[in-house]
Amino acid sequence: MADRNRPRVVIVGAGFGGLSLAKALARSSFEVILVDRQNYHLFQPLLYQVATAALSPADIAAPIRGILAGQRNATVLLANVGAIHPDRREIVADNRCIGYDYLVLATGARHAYFGHDDWAPLAPGLKTIDDATRLRAKILLAFERAESEEDELEKRRLLNFVVIGGGPTGVELAGAIAELAKRALARDFRTIDPRCARIFLVEAGPRLLGTFDPSLSEKAQKALERLGVEVHVGQAVTHCDPRGARVGSEEIPAATIVWAAGVMASPAGAWLGVPTDRAGRVVVGHDFSVPGHPEIFVIGDTAAAKDSSGTPFPGIAPVAKQQGQYVASLLLARCRGQAERPFRYRDFGSLATIGRKLAVAQFGRLRLSGLAAWLLWSIAHVYFLIGFRSRLVVALTWLWNYLTFERGTRLITGRVEEEQRPRPENSVGIYSAKVESA
Ligand SMILES: Cc1cc2nc3c(=O)[nH]c(=O)nc-3n(C[C@H](O)[C@H](O)[C@H](O)COP(=O)(O)OP(=O)(O)OC[C@H]3O[C@@H](n4cnc5c(N)ncnc54)[C@H](O)[C@@H]3O)c2cc1C
Repeated sequence: MADRNRPRVVIVGAGFGGLSLAKALARSSFEVILVDRQNYHLFQPLLYQVATAALSPADIAAPIRGILAGQRNATVLLANVGAIHPDRREIVADNRCIGYDYLVLATGARHAYFGHDDWAPLAPGLKTIDDATRLRAKILLAFERAESEEDELEKRRLLNFVVIGGGPTGVELAGAIAELAKRALARDFRTIDPRCARIFLVEAGPRLLGTFDPSLSEKAQKALERLGVEVHVGQAVTHCDPRGARVGSEEIPAATIVWAAGVMASPAGAWLGVPTDRAGRVVVGHDFSVPGHPEIFVIGDTAAAKDSSGTPFPGIAPVAKQQGQYVASLLLARCRGQAERPFRYRDFGSLATIGRKLAVAQFGRLRLSGLAAWLLWSIAHVYFLIGFRSRLVVALTWLWNYLTFERGTRLITGRVEEEQRPRPENSVGIYSAKVESA
């Protein structure tokens, strides 16, 4: 690792941004050190499929070392970065200091509960493989417990699922839970009918998929409702506890609540002691460098960057990837004494899937929905997965699921937390609002 004759680029985070940057520096004269606290690169857009038993974790994650095995100038370090000393040009990774000539922070984002951090254990979010397998266990366990539950009210609570947040992740999760309950699990139980499960999707804004064209938001809502999802828009969740969630003035008893409502950038701004926006993202210049530090760059979900018209870049994978590639080209240009070109984001459109054969897509002024959008969504996601094995396995799994409605990875694994069952005296009031109509 210690080739200090070559300029060293330390990249923190092997997500979409960090990995695209490291790969773009292959065959350059830089020494590249890529640090991540996980040993795998994760394709987050398909996490919800792991959480709903459609795919296995290994289908959507690849070991970072394996990806960069052939890149001789790159070293991978498994370590958690907790501090940076810009004055000494060092990062602190676990207990070790690593010097850099250039530093790129691509540490992504985490869930944000908007001042309700106490909801985190009650309404977990989806960000890592562990989150997805825990959520999968929670969803499947709800059906298992309902099967042996004698109390009717508790049985109904177990079969209610609340998804908070109507962006692409919330829409995809709600649709996938509905398909799991109403198709894949439909014949598996004897004392319950999984098709009676109720899935609630709650969005505080005026419509689902707020960044899409309103016509597509409407199509997505109708498609979800056809799947049996109960959509609440313009209503915020105001309370969560082990019994369920409160939406406006309505109490929804539910054993499973999922958070898909907001994110906060990683604490890179605090490490550097530089200004951030309200979402904790580091305010960077047009070349993604930190003001006053031309040798430090922040990209992806951790950066608050704007295009030339002042519009902030969205927190999506293509933005992170293109920013990573751009910083690589900028470093190469600097090294060669060439002029640095400005960053231009190429918007390839937005896609969100609702379920089998159902998706919405937007490319410039072109709007698509239904089967055509779903095929596009499937092809795009398979194409962007890393590794031929993952692409093949995911494509075949989807084909199999499509033909059979199967969900092959219905496994309850890991330590399962004891479900906090509400005390009977509490349950009466909270159940009454929904049970009659259930
Ligand atoms: C459930 C979900 C669904 C999504 N769906 C889509 C979608 O359909 N389309 C789309 O375009 N985008 C989607 N996104 C957003 C997209 O995944 C992000 O915009 C993208 O991952 C951002 O890339 P990044 O490189 O900034 O960070 P990430 O890809 O999140 O990578 C950050 C990396 O930094 C590492 N890291 C963090 N902190 C530290 C530390 N202290 N020390 C060492 N390593 C650290 C992490 O382990 C991780 O590997 C989705 C996100 C989620 C969570």
